[in-house]
Amino acid sequence: MSEFLLKPRICFGQDALSALTDVSAHSVLLVTDQAMVKFGLASRVTNILRDRGIAFQIWDDVVADPDIATVVRGMKLMDSRYPDLVIALGGGSVIDAAKAVIFALAQTRPDAGRERPCFVAIPTTSGTGSEVTSFSVVKANAEKLVLVDPSLLPDIAILDPTLVASVPPAITADTGMDVLCHALEAYVSTAASDFSDALAEKVVQQVFRYLPTCWRNGQDLQAREKMHNASCMAGMAFTNASLGITHSLAHALGGVFRVPHGRANALLMAQVVAWNADFDGQCDTAAAHKYARLAHLLDLPASTAREGVASLLVAIETLKEEMQMPAGIRDTAVDATDFERRLPEMVGQALRDSCTPTNPRAPDAQALTELYRRTYG
Ligand code: NAD
Repeated sequence: MSEFLLKPRICFGQDALSALTDVSAHSVLLVTDQAMVKFGLASRVTNILRDRGIAFQIWDDVVADPDIATVVRGMKLMDSRYPDLVIALGGGSVIDAAKAVIFALAQTRPDAGRERPCFVAIPTTSGTGSEVTSFSVVKANAEKLVLVDPSLLPDIAILDPTLVASVPPAITADTGMDVLCHALEAYVSTAASDFSDALAEKVVQQVFRYLPTCWRNGQDLQAREKMHNASCMAGMAFTNASLGITHSLAHALGGVFRVPHGRANALLMAQVVAWNADFDGQCDTAAAHKYARLAHLLDLPASTAREGVASLLVAIETLKEEMQMPAGIRDTAVDATDFERRLPEMVGQALRDSCTPTNPRAPDAQALTELYRRTYG
């Protein structure tokens, strides 16, 4: 038996934030970060709460790639004034922190007799899809741990593209490539289904069509809306089909060297596509044929699996170049000697990452080491 879970109610469009006027609450915890305060996005939420006479407290110092200490800070705050509604407003880091806090508090205080609060996720990047996933990524020392539990799913996701317009070009590129990576990995995952495939195909088409426009002109709300919806659809695909080793390698690279998550995926993605397709060999794997199908959907040459995979690889690299992204890990701040020194540790983390088992080709330590070295450049 297979299953495909659809959970949060999804409100989308340029006035989607107004959905907050209908959510019942007496006491709210708003989880967010300093960028949301600086860009006036947090006040768009608090203005609605104030107008409705709802009491709220704000936790606005969530850091990128939240760690255990961050989660513990959030737990103390939530425990001190337990809300009946939690609103997470921010990128994947903020949403994941809120998820982990709600989850950990329920686990550690089961005797408190409190109901799980309603949980509304409002993404302000078009990247992780965390608003519709049962995943939360939390850092412990230099390792990113992926928590997976259906109770992490928000109850409502609000996709308002006006909240994404302030994302600067470099973060638009990083997060947009994360969307593409979610779709590609879900599409070739060993747990892919007709349902996740339909979403992934649509996502890949929308990313290639709209991401460059978002990067060039962040104020183009039509393109922003298409990318925001694509990000959410990719989340729906991978929360069901899971992911693959681009993510496993990216989690370790991000955990050890603090490379932003989407950028790490962008760096590694083409190498993993080539390896999954066996591009240097027969190029006749099931994944190769699925990549070729995507190339065909993008109107790229794909008369054979090899031609299709080659077209997709060129399209990925061209998209990165168009957005002036680093080509290899060498072009980021990661020093070559440090990279070699930490390589075994990263490979170990990637091998035990929860995204690895659903990769279409099972890797060993040697294969992952080679993929890292090729990506270093
Ligand atoms: P992020 O949340 O770390 O945000 C990146 C930067 O963008 C931050 O400095 C943030 O303040 C800023 N920012 C966010 N929205 C903005 C806006 N509207 N205007 C201006 N600046 C804005 O980045 P992300 O890529 O969204 O999330 C990455 C995290 O999510 C990583 O920890 C990654 O491992 C995790 N992740 C989670 C899932 C999941 O399913 N839970 C999936 C993929 C990745």
